[in-house]
Amino acid sequence: MQKTANRRHFVQYFSLAGFTLIAACSDKPAPTPEPAPVAPPPPAPEPASAPAPDAAPMAEPAPAAAPAAPATSAKMPLVDAKDPQALALGYVSDAAQADKAKYKNFVAGSHCANCALFQGQASDTEGGCPLFPGKHVAAKGWCSAWAKKA
Ligand code: SF4
Repeated sequence: MQKTANRRHFVQYFSLAGFTLIAACSDKPAPTPEPAPVAPPPPAPEPASAPAPDAAPMAEPAPAAAPAAPATSAKMPLVDAKDPQALALGYVSDAAQADKAKYKNFVAGSHCANCALFQGQASDTEGGCPLFPGKHVAAKGWCSAWAKKA
């Protein structure tokens, strides 16, 4: 019995001494456990889509320029009595020269300034007429399309 116990102690001491001897003779340091991998940081929060309340408001786009008003008062060329449209309507720059024999509808005292289609003021010497776009008619003129101004 004593012999068995000595043998057991020998095996225990020998294995412990062997391990210590191997560790002491090694050039490498004893292995150390690797650190646990570090988790990546959480993603940054998304920026808010709405502007901050104190942010400067965006500039409004400039409105498009309004279309120019018809230039009824602007200087335009006068209608030439020899213009085909003028000839077709019997236009004359002076109502006194209207062909009353040809235009039986001529009314005494009628002229462009008191015509419903005249676009100028009563005091204007000339003004626009939709029958002659881009041109002016004489206030004293006349044509067969004359209609009494209301
Ligand atoms: S429609 Fe009236 S304004 Fe025009 S040319 Fe004739 S008379 Fe003059």
